[in-house]
Amino acid sequence: MTAALFIGVEVDPAVASDAELAKKLEEVCPVDIFKAGPDGVEIVEDNLDECVLCELCLNASPPGTVKVIKRYDNDAQLGA
Ligand code: SF4
Repeated sequence: MTAALFIGVEVDPAVASDAELAKKLEEVCPVDIFKAGPDGVEIVEDNLDECVLCELCLNASPPGTVKVIKRYDNDAQLGA
């Protein structure tokens, strides 16, 4: 069972291959939802529901490029 029930994270394809951003996101997220992979930002699906809504990923990325979606709250967007 890998599907996250409560949280969804989307990274804009325009920045997802940015290695610097991938590294930054991997560093800032306290629950390891982002991973810097060979092709840029990877989402670690198994950790999604651990999200603590800290907004560090939003602050570390260009405005609007990373979205944290609260599936439990009618898909409301964190920080919106
Ligand atoms: S809001 Fe915080 S815990 Fe959630 S994905 Fe972003 S950095 Fe990780």
